[in-house]
Amino acid sequence: MELTKAQAWMADFAATISQNAALLTDLDRQIGDADHGSNMNRGMQAVIALDRDFPDAASYLKKAGMTLVSTVGGASGPLYGTFLLRFAGALTGQTTHDAHGMARAWRAGLEGVISRGKAGPGDKTMVDALQPAVEAMEAETSDLAICLTSGLAAGEQGRDATTPMVARKGRASYLGERSAGHQDPGATSIVLLLEAAARTLA
Ligand code: ADP
Ligand code: MG
Ligand code: MG
Repeated sequence: MELTKAQAWMADFAATISQNAALLTDLDRQIGDADHGSNMNRGMQAVIALDRDFPDAASYLKKAGMTLVSTVGGASGPLYGTFLLRFAGALTGQTTHDAHGMARAWRAGLEGVISRGKAGPGDKTMVDALQPAVEAMEAETSDLAICLTSGLAAGEQGRDATTPMVARKGRASYLGERSAGHQDPGATSIVLLLEAAARTLA
């Protein structure tokens, strides 16, 4: 992946997070502590304020991940940070920019989120959007644009499927059964990351 593509992805994600910060915070107000939009916005503003001068996409995305870990308070900072660090790690040594490599990088990011947060499918977290997205990308490796749009469509379905779920991880789990009937904020922001990827990474 070219450095300019990785930077365009993060710039697009930062813009869409900023536009949707109020929505993300409203979702988090229903089942959390009303800060997911402001957390992600603070982190992504710090990412786009980074120096543009990096040797490659992997080193840039590693720095972006470390920036999220250090600037986003809350669960989402370490989880998104780990996602980007592992994603970047999977890019290292990739010589072509294709759907196979893209799916591998998203898979590595997902595994980082799971090993950090210990959430599984159905726990009503960002994993419920990210995991089906990665599986859809892995099933569509003939064309990079199709791979990314398939991942986005599956991520949207996964996000929507969080609404009836009862949360078993994160703050929303404190509500027990009362967490049902609300869309998960982190699954919602993952779809914004997928949208930004579909617009910039093909
Ligand atoms: P906090 O809950 O600390 O205020 P945020 O509001 O920024 O952090 O992020 C909340 C989102 O983080 C949730 O909607 C959920 O998607 C995600 N999340 C929380 N805990 C976990 C976990 N253990 N694994 C995966 N995702 C999680
Ligand atoms: Mg919160
Ligand atoms: Mg919080």
